Amino acid sequence: NQTLAELDPEVAVAVDAELARQRDTLEMIASENFAPQAVLEAQGSVLTNKYAEGYPGRRYYGGCEHVDVVEQLAIDRAKALFGAEHANVQPHSGAQANTAVYFALLKPGDTILGLDLAHGGHLTHGMRINYSGKILNAVAYHVRDSDGTVDYDEVEALAKEHQPKMIIAGWSAYPRQLDFARFRAIADEVGALLMVDMAHFAGLVAAGLHPNPVPFADVVTTTTHKTLGGPRGGLILAKEEFGKKINSAVFPGMQGGPLEHVIAAKAVALKVAAGEEFADRQRRTVAGARILAERLTRPDAVAAGVSVLSGGTDVHLVLVDLRESELDGQQAEDRLHGIGITVNRNAVPNDPRPPMVTSGLRIGTPALATRGFDEADFTEVADIIAAALQPEHDAAALRDRVAALARKHPLYPGLR
Ligand code: PLP
Repeated sequence: NQTLAELDPEVAVAVDAELARQRDTLEMIASENFAPQAVLEAQGSVLTNKYAEGYPGRRYYGGCEHVDVVEQLAIDRAKALFGAEHANVQPHSGAQANTAVYFALLKPGDTILGLDLAHGGHLTHGMRINYSGKILNAVAYHVRDSDGTVDYDEVEALAKEHQPKMIIAGWSAYPRQLDFARFRAIADEVGALLMVDMAHFAGLVAAGLHPNPVPFADVVTTTTHKTLGGPRGGLILAKEEFGKKINSAVFPGMQGGPLEHVIAAKAVALKVAAGEEFADRQRRTVAGARILAERLTRPDAVAAGVSVLSGGTDVHLVLVDLRESELDGQQAEDRLHGIGITVNRNAVPNDPRPPMVTSGLRIGTPALATRGFDEADFTEVADIIAAALQPEHDAAALRDRVAALARKHPLYPGLR
């Protein structure tokens, strides 16, 4: 019955250091968030000990009566929150969720049509060396050069030309809302299935701040740890007619025993996501991103070669375009890291620099909104970032301003 610190001080020290890092810096990676303590508690529970292959009421192991309760709660809450007919809460991650959908509804060699990785798509939407691009015939659509938004005419033309079995709408780096009705119409025109991967914007959908793809899509996948703010994991929502196929693709098709401790944490996160506090947090998330976009398109930013793709944002992130800046993506990421702000560099469409360097930054607001940031705090962060991207800046002064914001919003005050 030793504690972690007693049994394994090396691991304990690293965990403590990570908690300190999360507390002392400002987390602006768009795909990250801070799970509530109740989620951490569920995820760290004895449910990790339990084998439960199968689904609630139909398990291949004894002693599943309590994990059945937990998994059924997660399923019911997911269906209610998003208005879905069917939910599978077992995928270990977003990538597993997407791959299970392909496994359920497609055959090797079938054509899929997804957003190009370099234009904001995800690896699992058909990237060449991902399973999706290796096993399936992946065709990519793009964003327009002129305004950085999805070119629906191109989607339609490619769909007619390649007759995909499935069209994938969804993104990892895109600052606008998608037109699901248009995607549905294109899919219907060519007899394709429509999958929406809402991994990034699921929290906004839950809060009613983003159109819900569920009524339009045959299948919707998501992660549970981004804007949704839960444990690291995946989730599949589907029309009832695909439910059986999806369940058997997840188990036994792709996975063995479900992670019932993570599923318990998903259930808790889905309960949180149905509440008014969560909706308020998502409103602050979007407001914060808008403030950031506005501050990074002011004349002093433009003079330093900084701009924002698509000119703004409707979601929880901003894509900073550094093609005209003396800084590349790597240098800008390092500079912000140096003052205590964590972001990730990100390729912009038609990026002239290599993928390990890039000419952009992806900056997100979900984690800071969870920390309690309001519009005034986001204005201060945006001003700090805008100043840091200037050729002349006082790094020490900016570091102090970051530290003051971190102190103002203590993180996990209940954790040691
Ligand atoms: N889908 C999208 C759109 C994503 O952005 C991501 C993660 O970045 C995933 C799927 C994959 O999720 P995971 O990292 O949990 O496998």
